[in-house]
Amino acid sequence: MTASPERYSPNIGRLRPSATITVSTLAKKLASEGRDIVNLSTGEPDFRTPEGAAEAGVAAIRGGGTRYTPAAGLPELRSAAAAYLVARTPYPPDGQRVVVSAGAKQSLFNACFCLFGPGDEVLVGSPYWTSYPEMVTLARAEPVPVPGAADRDFLLTPDDLEAASTARTRGLIVSTPSNPTGAVYSEAELAAIASWARERGVTLICDEIYREIHYGEGDRAPGVLDLDPGRVGDLVVANGMSKAFAMTGWRVGFSYTTRELAAKMAALQSHVSLNAATPSQMAALGGLRELAEGGDAAHTLSEMRTAYRRRRDLVVRLFDELLPEYPYVRPAGAFYLYFSVQSAFDDQATCAADICTRLLEEAGVAIVPGEAFGDPRFARMSTAAADADIEEGVRRMAKVLAARGNP
Ligand code: PLP
Repeated sequence: MTASPERYSPNIGRLRPSATITVSTLAKKLASEGRDIVNLSTGEPDFRTPEGAAEAGVAAIRGGGTRYTPAAGLPELRSAAAAYLVARTPYPPDGQRVVVSAGAKQSLFNACFCLFGPGDEVLVGSPYWTSYPEMVTLARAEPVPVPGAADRDFLLTPDDLEAASTARTRGLIVSTPSNPTGAVYSEAELAAIASWARERGVTLICDEIYREIHYGEGDRAPGVLDLDPGRVGDLVVANGMSKAFAMTGWRVGFSYTTRELAAKMAALQSHVSLNAATPSQMAALGGLRELAEGGDAAHTLSEMRTAYRRRRDLVVRLFDELLPEYPYVRPAGAFYLYFSVQSAFDDQATCAADICTRLLEEAGVAIVPGEAFGDPRFARMSTAAADADIEEGVRRMAKVLAARGNP
């Protein structure tokens, strides 16, 4: 039985499935059919959940932590998340500013749905994480991609934002460290765009889910909460357990904003999904406590940082050596390499999607085409994979691409 397109609501009129998830699902399917696939498409830590978090989750399941919680999350978790998010910043560790959701994805959706609507425009730093424009569109607002300059690693400046804004601009969404580029705003760069947003009355949604995966000075990348609150206007910060705690499947994310907006986001969530799974919330609390005490979560995080840095160095070295015709953004955080595939374009392959299909078919390497991030000249490979897979993947890609890059 099929329904005709006109049976669907305009709410989902422009909805497309997540391209990143589509590629990784296809790669997994091909592998399960016996194809030799190197899957570098997934943005998922290949580390185990820290002990304290796993134990707390299991204890919750066994001990009756299996009922509803308040929509905004367990009060102890909201407080612990607030303390984690504002550590060493001037902002208050106020649990009532935090809403716990089923992943940072839901936090970001809640923010978009509560803040934007028909007639509003929302600036989205481009290349962008694939879900931002979809979330804005689901709120029936208009996403406006704002491309940063390639020679600044696509990071935005107030001039970029000024050129893209109109009287209808209500929001700005950026990620730092960025998915897909791995670029990281310095504190001064972040302050400049935050000040611009404040002056224009634009709400800044800052996605800091990769904040702990940083290769620069200090373990954490600069975050918008580090800034002088006087320079920052309306703000939502999204973060969560998925990346820093290797807890993608537990589905726990957080938002930090004003108490008023937090109450609205919790009210929305109360009608949509109510609460993040209770054992997952308990696990998140266990993980945050363990990190604060320097336990296994702290070890996992430092082990991950070391591994991701080593892999970043590896992939950069391999690209310099094997794919010199393919410029990339040198990652300062997160776990991706974003590179231009233009040198491979020919009559049969005129965009990144064509190149990625070719790489999957001819080399058995799965990476995500830049169409998913708003730029069909680029592609993104994940470095959240074993070193050997990264090396094998790049070598295989080089066999297919280098031939085209050096005609
Ligand atoms: N934001 C960015 C930039 C991401 O890359 C991801 C996941 O890939 C998310 C948010 C979603 O995180 P979560 O698993 O907490 O929903």
